[in-house]
Amino acid sequence: MAERIGRLAVVGLGLIGSSIARGARTYGLAGTVVAIDRDAGVLERVRALGLADLATDDLALGVGGADLVILCVPVGAIGAVAAELGPHLKPGAILSDVGSVKAAVVGAVAPHLAPANPFVPAHPVAGTEYSGPDSGFATLFANRWCILTPPEGTDAAAVERVQAFWQGLGAIVETMSPEHHDLVLAITSHVPHLIAYNIVGTAADLEAVTESEVIKFSAGGFRDFTRIAASDPTMWRDIFLTNREAVLEMLGRFNEDLSALARAIRWGDGDALHALFTRTRAIRRGIVAMGQETAEADFGRGRDGPRPP
Ligand code: NAP
Repeated sequence: MAERIGRLAVVGLGLIGSSIARGARTYGLAGTVVAIDRDAGVLERVRALGLADLATDDLALGVGGADLVILCVPVGAIGAVAAELGPHLKPGAILSDVGSVKAAVVGAVAPHLAPANPFVPAHPVAGTEYSGPDSGFATLFANRWCILTPPEGTDAAAVERVQAFWQGLGAIVETMSPEHHDLVLAITSHVPHLIAYNIVGTAADLEAVTESEVIKFSAGGFRDFTRIAASDPTMWRDIFLTNREAVLEMLGRFNEDLSALARAIRWGDGDALHALFTRTRAIRRGIVAMGQETAEADFGRGRDGPRPP
């Protein structure tokens, strides 16, 4: 069992923040759970759902006395929130986050922290297309990766505490540099989302095919894209604005490969198509074999992972 955190403060009680609060309570990872959100409606739901010992919109009050503070707000808001709460952290308190982009977050947070407050950035690679405190659940992170990206020189004991916390939530923890994280996630998550947003937008704009036909005949492929394209607009806007370089790099590669595919179709090069589709099928089977996918084509977003120990 993970070492218990005395006082845990979660800032931003959406899908991820509320899942952390639920998990911390369910698995006994913290003595006290404090929920901080700027939205009165969210705080009301947090109280009604019994997700925390204290629910407040007062950042200074909420993080005061906390041993671990986890920022679960959109990536674009993390720097401003860190600036506001930085002076109120007690010496030794650890700051962490769950942002989907890491290099920009490290740059935005570092200037606001005293040396006595280590920052251990984290990204749980788990989620659904839903938002808000009602959408969270304690098992969201079970058997999912959580990537830690501590900048060089980060206090090793703080990294270990954050690692143990995520393991307590059932996650499998891996460590890498913020820059490498952003490159990996650009191709595994960010560009796929962009493709989904684009294809659903293209279909919606088609004049020769009516919207009702798109909905009526949305067999496997398109239907899966629509679910991804229903992901939170604020969160994804921030991801593309803050991981610009890596996304543009991967998008350049993607465009070249797409042109090659278009050429193969134009020239009737069935062998090229068949060879690629055989290779991609093997990748899919590898993902399933690693337990990163349910039998359904839901891009690793199955809800019912086994409960952590
Ligand atoms: P969410 O459900 O939309 O929740 C975000 C919460 O943060 C909302 O309650 C929001 O309140 C609040 N908030 C926004 N700006 C704030 C501010 N300046 N101060 C205080 N609270 C603020 O979002 P989420 O899906 O949990 O995502 C949160 C973080 O997790 C993001 O950084 C995202 O990149 C990361 N993440 C998401 C997923 C996923 O699949 N969803 C997976 C891994 C990591 P308002 O409603 O008032 O804006």
